[in-house]
Amino acid sequence: MSSNSSPPTADRTDLPDDTPNSALATARQQLERAAAHIDINPAIVERLRHPDSVHEVTIPVERDDGTVEVFTGYRVHHDNVRGPGKGGLRYHPDVSREESIGLAIWMTWKCAVMDLPFGGAKGGVVVDPKSLSEGEKERLTRRFTHEIRDVIGPKTDIPAPDMGTDAQTMSWIMDAYSMVEGETVPGVVTGKPPVNGGSYGREEAPGRSVAIITREACDYYDRSISDVTVAVQGFGSVGANAARLLDEWGATVVAVSDVGGAAYDSAGIDPSSIPSHAEEPEAVTEAGETTISNEELLALDVDVLIPAAIGNVITADNAADVRADIVVEGANGPTTTPADAILSERDVAVIPDILANAGGVTVSYFEWLQHINRRSWSLERVQEELEAEMLSAWENVRREVDERGVTWRDGAYIVALSRLAEAHENRGLWP
Ligand code: NAD
Repeated sequence: MSSNSSPPTADRTDLPDDTPNSALATARQQLERAAAHIDINPAIVERLRHPDSVHEVTIPVERDDGTVEVFTGYRVHHDNVRGPGKGGLRYHPDVSREESIGLAIWMTWKCAVMDLPFGGAKGGVVVDPKSLSEGEKERLTRRFTHEIRDVIGPKTDIPAPDMGTDAQTMSWIMDAYSMVEGETVPGVVTGKPPVNGGSYGREEAPGRSVAIITREACDYYDRSISDVTVAVQGFGSVGANAARLLDEWGATVVAVSDVGGAAYDSAGIDPSSIPSHAEEPEAVTEAGETTISNEELLALDVDVLIPAAIGNVITADNAADVRADIVVEGANGPTTTPADAILSERDVAVIPDILANAGGVTVSYFEWLQHINRRSWSLERVQEELEAEMLSAWENVRREVDERGVTWRDGAYIVALSRLAEAHENRGLWP
């Protein structure tokens, strides 16, 4: 364990049981798989199975009709040995203590595989944001910020947008935090609008990194990007940006989908002509010519499949139907552990989420640097530096894959875990 002690407000009640296929169960299984490949102190593996701290807060909010509703929020710190916590805040009815811990663990791997000086954190509020007015969302966000203000900060834990939250949410958090601090503190969150100290290129970054990694994976398997066909599940921030870039780089995107189904054309579709989730929510099937289901999209005979919507969509039930040669994980945790084993047996290359969609946290890191230096970077600089960081991470993972003959997921976890283990060994256990 690192010598950093957790804040006194931390609630350290027992961990929940691992629910099968939950983010926590999957994160722990992946940790154990990677640990089996390297010479690592078992005490460090045991330490990494658990979060540093779990903060659960109550958030009373006045609704527009004058009634008060009470919501539950979480902020989890998983491991801070390499730096302050970093991870998103989700507003979603399925947010839970267990899910937040699992996602915080993933953030630790993601930051480590990208060699960013951050640890893993995550959190959110159990709420359907669509059920709130804009004013209710602002009051919820400001009160939530107040409740977690002791455990976040530019040097301790820096939240970012995730499902159900956006640049506006980050602006409210920054404002609520800054008002009490008595000074403007842009570095308390990333993913802010550029006018409030956000970075250009943050919004498109996870989709851009998915596209970069797809291009590199195609190159690795001797396929030119202009010859490959691609299907993308989910047409939000990650899916739409990835699909549009790949189309721009010459790939043939044959299908994209949202929660309502997929638009499909074997000759290729123009992803720029279809509104993304942010541009017009759930409009994919209205814009496409032929409509197929999300299940059918996952089974299309394409070169590359990019699940970029939600977790657990490729499972033991449908992994045998996947006909793509390469799966690039745009979403967090789209492949369950049993499905991963089936795909591996079938020689389907699965490029893991912690590498592929890490552009988001990488540009968040750039945003944090811009805050520290009080200097804004151009969009061109952000894109160039992101490209360089992604290629460097790809190269480190590729080396492990080639030298050890392991899967891409194991390769990425080996890179991340080796860095974490060394940092823990050097810092030691306190006291
Ligand atoms: P988003 O809300 O912008 O878009 C989500 C898309 O998925 C929408 O098109 C929606 O219709 C679709 N969708 C929802 N449920 C679906 C279902 N059951 N089947 C098919 N499609 C469905 O979300 P996003 O920001 O693009 O995030 C997508 C995934 O990527 C999530 O797993 C998220 O955690 C992960 N991710 C996001 C970021 C980021 O910064 N946005 C970074 C890294 C990873």
